[in-house]
Amino acid sequence: MVYDTEDLIMCEHCKEQLEKAKELGIFSSHDLGILKNPRRVFAFNFPLVMDSGETKLISAFRVQYNDALGPTKGGLRFHQSVDLNEVSELAFLMSLKNALLGLPFGGAKGGVKLDPKKLSEKELERASRAYIRELWKFIGPSIDIPAPDVNTNEKVMGWMLDEYEKIVGHKAPGLITGKPLVLGGSLGRSTSTARGAFFLLQEHFKKELEEKKTLRVAIQGFGNAGSVIAELLESIGMKIVAVSDSSSALYNETGLALDELLSFKKGKNSSFSKFSGNAKQITQEELLMLDVDILIPAALGGVIRKENANNVKAKLILELANGPITPSADSILNTKNIEVIPGILANAGGVVVSYFEWVQNLQNYYWTEERVNSELQEYMLKAYNAVILLSQKDKLSLRGAAEILAIRRILEAEKLRGNI
Ligand code: NAD
Repeated sequence: MVYDTEDLIMCEHCKEQLEKAKELGIFSSHDLGILKNPRRVFAFNFPLVMDSGETKLISAFRVQYNDALGPTKGGLRFHQSVDLNEVSELAFLMSLKNALLGLPFGGAKGGVKLDPKKLSEKELERASRAYIRELWKFIGPSIDIPAPDVNTNEKVMGWMLDEYEKIVGHKAPGLITGKPLVLGGSLGRSTSTARGAFFLLQEHFKKELEEKKTLRVAIQGFGNAGSVIAELLESIGMKIVAVSDSSSALYNETGLALDELLSFKKGKNSSFSKFSGNAKQITQEELLMLDVDILIPAALGGVIRKENANNVKAKLILELANGPITPSADSILNTKNIEVIPGILANAGGVVVSYFEWVQNLQNYYWTEERVNSELQEYMLKAYNAVILLSQKDKLSLRGAAEILAIRRILEAEKLRGNI
């Protein structure tokens, strides 16, 4: 069956991005047609035997959106609300992100519709292995390389690698990235998303940092991405005035005591709503509206919407989460001259170090953490400088410039392959 633009499968967001690219007059609709639909879509249901003996049928997906630049690459999430539209949209964004960063990868994404919090460890392992048993023929180190995403971690990647290797009968660490170190993971991978974004902010605010201006930062989400970037920014003298988790947001206009928050998070009962240190409890919405230099959404998608975008006072927003700003909110922020470093650039550090992990696996030669971090910096700054240059030359938003650079690279590869 050929999926058409009219089919549900085509995500709304992908359509909007392509319309925008067309309006700019840089690409023809004929050329853009090749990106309108994903190349390959896998949608299946697998049986999961629960500890109780009951069998449940679990829906799962993998979308390989575009592979003109190389094997497809992208994360795999476990979430009760996963659907094919969401996975297609994320696979499209992965195609843009990998292209923008100059990686030799196309874009993909996977999803399994289940709530891992409701599964035992054994059930989670059986689900992870079952997903690979369904997909193993269509993935591989030079075909499609999964990685962790929401609710999946290095333990899940380890089980998946093991299942694949058992089926194919040989070791293949390059199948999957974000693995445990002893199974071929990379040093620096767990902090790479935040570190990549940190390099961008350091460059973006070079002048202010040289002049020793104190920049005020608010961060929504204090997980892997949010807490690491908070620490890195504080280490260069920025002031973290607000952070949040799913329970509450904390604010201190003179700066939060980060080390106190980090050790609080390590304890039991670590919800910010229970924090009694030197900080005021505020709402998530109040955090997003603070008058700060840098606002970093690092939790969920769609938190800045047309209903609240007018009240945002930050000077710059860095999208560490995937899709925290809706397209209509993005237009409002544009008219308010609020700069946005888009997710396809801002949170690309994770996939860049995943690329390094894959390279190390193929060569069977492992790098030091210093080398990983310094090559990450090079990749991030190269893409950042290209985006800034194009945005200044053609008077485009950073998002517009990033998307054009990415689409141009994919279309060039499609042309050279004779596909358009
Ligand atoms: P995580 O699970 O480690 O942390 C998520 C944080 O968000 C937690 O502090 C949680 O309490 C908070 N949160 C959850 N619901 C919330 C709500 N309703 N309001 C406010 N806060 C809420 O996840 P992460 O790995 O830090 O990822 C965060 C975001 O960054 C996600 O959008 C993810 O897709 C994106 N991202 C992460 C990586 C990565 O390598 N970790 C890479 C690219 C993009």
